[in-house]
Amino acid sequence: MLRVDLTKKRFFVEEIRDEDLKGFIGGKGLGIKILLEKLGKNVSPLSPENLLVFAVGPVEGLTFPGGAKAGVFFKSPLTGVFGESYCGGTFGPQLKLAGYDVLIVTGVSDKPTYLKIFDGEVEFKDASHLWGRDAYETEDIIKRDEDRRIQVACIGPAGENLVRFACINNVKGRQFGRCGAGAVMGSKRLKAIAILGTGKIEPENFEEYNRIREYLLEKSKTILKSLTEYGTAPMITLMSKAGALPTRYWREGEFEEVEKISAETMKKNVVKGNRACYGCPIACGKFSRVESGPFAGVEVEGPEFETLYSFGSLCGVGNLEAIVKANEVCDRLGMDTISAGNVVAFAIECFERGILGEEAVGGLRLSFGDWETILKLLPKIAYREGFGDVLADGVREVAKRIGGEAEKLAVHVKGLEPPAYDPRGIKAKALAYAISSRGACHLRHFVHRPNLVGKHAFKKDVAVDRFSHEEQVEMIVELEDFYTLVDTMILCRFVCLPVIGPLLWDEVTRLYNALTGLNVKTEDLVKTAVKINQMVRVFNVREGVTRKDDYPPERFYREPLKKGVADGHVVEKERFEGMLNKYYRIRGWDRDGKPSLKV
Ligand code: SF4
Repeated sequence: MLRVDLTKKRFFVEEIRDEDLKGFIGGKGLGIKILLEKLGKNVSPLSPENLLVFAVGPVEGLTFPGGAKAGVFFKSPLTGVFGESYCGGTFGPQLKLAGYDVLIVTGVSDKPTYLKIFDGEVEFKDASHLWGRDAYETEDIIKRDEDRRIQVACIGPAGENLVRFACINNVKGRQFGRCGAGAVMGSKRLKAIAILGTGKIEPENFEEYNRIREYLLEKSKTILKSLTEYGTAPMITLMSKAGALPTRYWREGEFEEVEKISAETMKKNVVKGNRACYGCPIACGKFSRVESGPFAGVEVEGPEFETLYSFGSLCGVGNLEAIVKANEVCDRLGMDTISAGNVVAFAIECFERGILGEEAVGGLRLSFGDWETILKLLPKIAYREGFGDVLADGVREVAKRIGGEAEKLAVHVKGLEPPAYDPRGIKAKALAYAISSRGACHLRHFVHRPNLVGKHAFKKDVAVDRFSHEEQVEMIVELEDFYTLVDTMILCRFVCLPVIGPLLWDEVTRLYNALTGLNVKTEDLVKTAVKINQMVRVFNVREGVTRKDDYPPERFYREPLKKGVADGHVVEKERFEGMLNKYYRIRGWDRDGKPSLKV
């Protein structure tokens, strides 16, 4: 484990105790353990005391499909609670190959700095010439000046300007996207972390490891074929057909222009090839370039489904090239596209309803579908100019600033703007968003998938009805535990999908045993995941989270979804209370959501 103090410009290498590796594995497990032990209560997220805990898992550094992610754990400046974010690309493998499972960054530098880590050597390097540069330029300059092989995680101007949903970028297309880790990095005046590792990782039981790898490779040729061919984009059409695609800031569940931004349209008009994280043959990333029109020459990795939603349906935009451009602007300036799209769409919603006037938004006229104005707003947010300075604090803070009706229209949970699934069309999503520890999130439970295919995540032949409520709570709990294990092992979700796997509980257990040489049972790993979940809740309760924070946005109760197959649906408050009570009971928490278990 490498611990870096930016204030004193010192670093320490420490061994992780064997019992901690066994008890907390890696990733999220070690992340929450370190935060609980080393981060004081009520620390301001943008103060020098906040920590950035980068952590990988036992599969890192091998060329295992879906094994190239890294996690970062911190107190979020967007939500004020536990922050976690995961990134593919090359950062995680290099950290591991340099000899570290964990990198803890604390303190604040007196001037812009970047860290250079080359195996056991750590240097604090002047980044004054990089401050103000976008993420693409920063990566290029560091590679040119240091070593073409070095891998860079860096922030753009949004991180420097403490935009609360700023992200950390890697390989010009992968991000630690959610919860504002980029703002924490900016608050420490840390522009980048550049790593080169030359170590070698060997699984303890190579034969068994190889069997699992071969199994996964074989399965991925069929089960994950669509990911390789189209990436995540097909979800945009699927969700619109399901009537649960948030459209025009959560007014509607179906987008009439969805075909203009579909996976097929992307493939035909902008996609030029595939991109992969380190050693992953699935290569679900899509490299896109606009060939003609006002955005000719714009290149980006993406857009992913979530960006097609946030700058497409949510903003009422059916212009694919404009979405590619918005994606590129966010990547370069270093902003999470889900939060950025939501905050822009929220501003449009308030403007169209007459809650915000032209004067308040700097003389702009905001309307759904107007991509030109949306593109003008994005740099204003990143540089905190004019009305952009207000939007840079996220939907919750914007709503508070405007007050009144705006607070009733704002869609967020614990301050985090939601991804592309409307809970009025998938009822289990209301609970999943509400109890997700980092705020409204699709990845902590992935419960949309069993609901969309109508099958239980883990039990063959058990059907799931997406308009059902309490019946789904046990499955949500199990999904939460499973993905806590996945995030502790640091595996990509796309190789651990509900219903189809290919890796589910037993396969992940086999993989863990092959990597570590241990012989644990699935029940042991379930217990580890439950313990880690409880610790995250303890952290959040310590930071002030109570039952009142575990609710979906009020708007979902009172405003029926319009259009599509879920037309007229709301989240029924009584049924939601039933789900929440049941969830608390299973978790062993009291009525106020406080864990009664000692951890
Ligand atoms: S499946 Fe896609 S996101 Fe996951 S590791 Fe492979 S390339 Fe990266």
